[in-house]
Amino acid sequence: MTVIDPSRTIQAVAGVSRLSPYIPGKPVETLEREYGVQNAVKVASNENPLGPSPEVITHLAKMLENPLELARYPDGNGFILKDKLIEHLNPALTKLTAEQITLGNGSNDVLDILARTFAGSGDEVIFSQYAFAVYPIATQAVGATAVVTPAVNWGHDLSAMLDAVTDKTRLIFIANPNNPTGTCLSGDELINFIKQVPEHIVVVVDEAYEEYAVHKNSGFSEQYYSMLSKVSEFPNLVVTRTFSKAYGLASFRVGYAISSEYIADLLNRVRQPFNNNTFALECAAIALEDQNHIQQAVELNWQGMALLTQGFHKLGLDYIPSAGNFVCVKIGSNSADIYEQLLYKGVIVRPVANYQMPEYLRISIGNAEENNRVLEALSMVLNQ
Ligand SMILES: *Cc1c(COP(=O)(O)O)cnc(C)c1O
Repeated sequence: MTVIDPSRTIQAVAGVSRLSPYIPGKPVETLEREYGVQNAVKVASNENPLGPSPEVITHLAKMLENPLELARYPDGNGFILKDKLIEHLNPALTKLTAEQITLGNGSNDVLDILARTFAGSGDEVIFSQYAFAVYPIATQAVGATAVVTPAVNWGHDLSAMLDAVTDKTRLIFIANPNNPTGTCLSGDELINFIKQVPEHIVVVVDEAYEEYAVHKNSGFSEQYYSMLSKVSEFPNLVVTRTFSKAYGLASFRVGYAISSEYIADLLNRVRQPFNNNTFALECAAIALEDQNHIQQAVELNWQGMALLTQGFHKLGLDYIPSAGNFVCVKIGSNSADIYEQLLYKGVIVRPVANYQMPEYLRISIGNAEENNRVLEALSMVLNQ
C-alpha cells in the first residue's frame, strides 16, 4: 500500500522509500476483535509460553512500591545488568568487561545501531536469503545496499557470502540459529568463515535462539557453537543476544551485543542515551539469576517440538528441522488460505511469504495445550 503525501514535496531518503515495513505476528486481541473468535492461541512470534521467571513478577511489584523512582531516568550505562551479564557469560567468555557490552531496546535496536555505525550510502551489507527481516530494514534505512546471497538447504551459504565480499562491504549479518528457517551452522563453519573475512568488515552473529540450540535435547547441540568465546580472538566479530525469546521478556525490549571494547565504544556513541527503560534493565538482571526457569522453558520447547513434528508427520506434512523455538511447516500453494482458516479456528501462526517461502507457515512452539490446539486446527482445516 502506498500512502500519498498531500504536499507531494516531502521525500524520504532513497533507501526508506523502497523499504517494506516489518510485518509482526497478529496480536490475540486483534484476532478476537476482527474474527470474533475467543480463546485465541498465538504461536506467531517465537515468544516463551511460560512467560518470564516468577522472580521478575515479584520484582515488578516491588518496583511499583516506589513510584518516585519511576520519575527518574534509567541508568544510561545499565551498570547492574552489565554486571549480571558478565557473571552469567563468564566463563564462556573469560575476562569479559562491561566495556565490551552494548545494551539495546531489544536486539533489533542493536542491529540497527550496528548498521548506523558501520554502513552508509554506497556501502554494502551482506546477509542470506531467508534471513531475519530486520537485516534488510536496518540496511536500507541507512542507505546502504543489501547484498542477499542464495541459501543452501534453507541455511546460510557461507562460501557464497565470502564470494559476495567486495571493496564496498562493511557489514555481514548471520543468524545462528536462523529465523525463520531454524537452520544452524557449526562452529567450524563459522570460525573458518570469519578467518577469511577481511578484518575491516564487521561480522555480526545473531544468537537470539542460542539457549534452545545448545540444549542437549535440541538435536543440534553437537553441531551448535556460540561465537561468544571467539570475540576476543576476532576484533571484527560481534555477537548479539536477546531476552525476548527463552527469557520470556519480549515486551520489555532488551538485547545486547558483545564485541571488542573498540566496537562497543563506537556503538555506544550511536545508541540513544536511555534506550533501555528501568523495568527492562532491572527485570533482565533478575531474569538472568533464574537459570532454572530458562532450563524449564527450553525443555518444554523440545517436548513441544517433538509433539508438533510428530503431528506434522501424521498429517503428511514436511517441515524444516529447527534449532529454535519455532518450525516452518510445508503447507503448499494454498498456505495463505490455510493461514486464514486457522485464524477462524483461533490459531495465529506466521505466514512467511514475505521471506520468499510462500508454501510454508512458521509455527512457534507453545505449551502442550497450545501445541495440541495447533495440531487439531491444522488437521481440521487440511481435511475440510
Ligand atoms: C526474535 C529475533 C531477535 C530478537 O529481537 P528483539 O529485538 O531482541 O526482540 C533477533 N534476531 C532474530 C534472528 C530473531 O528471530
